[in-house]
Amino acid sequence: MQFANKDELKEAIREYAIVQGRNVKLVKNDNKRIQAKCVGHTKCPFILFASKIDKDEQTFSIKTLSLEHECTRVDKLKYINSRWLSKRFADKIRKNPEWDVGAFQSEVLEKYHMNVSRHQIYRAKSLSKVIIEGSYVEQYARL
Ligand SMILES: [Zn+2]
Repeated sequence: MQFANKDELKEAIREYAIVQGRNVKLVKNDNKRIQAKCVGHTKCPFILFASKIDKDEQTFSIKTLSLEHECTRVDKLKYINSRWLSKRFADKIRKNPEWDVGAFQSEVLEKYHMNVSRHQIYRAKSLSKVIIEGSYVEQYARL
């Protein structure tokens, strides 16, 4: 399994952690290697190790991968923050800027089995607004 660059690989790990509800943490993160472990359980066998295929290229390749877990799902992760929420739900916020905070919370719980605070939802909505307004300004500036 290969990834175009380190950011893409990290994004995939984050998405995996969120969807699986597992506390996956990067224990090594430099320009050549990425290693992720699950810190949800002391003996959790989950492991991911990836390295650059060539020092002159950006491509990362997964060398070791064990998707097995002995831990159980968690409903809070540090990966789930306002920035992530604002990106993940950008379309929906754009279509419905008055989206109710409680309804937004329920949707995150339903889709990702994650509990987020009202404060995180408020922040996500205002971050999204900045992005949307920013892009209008950009479009306008092009004229
Ligand atoms: Zn685990």
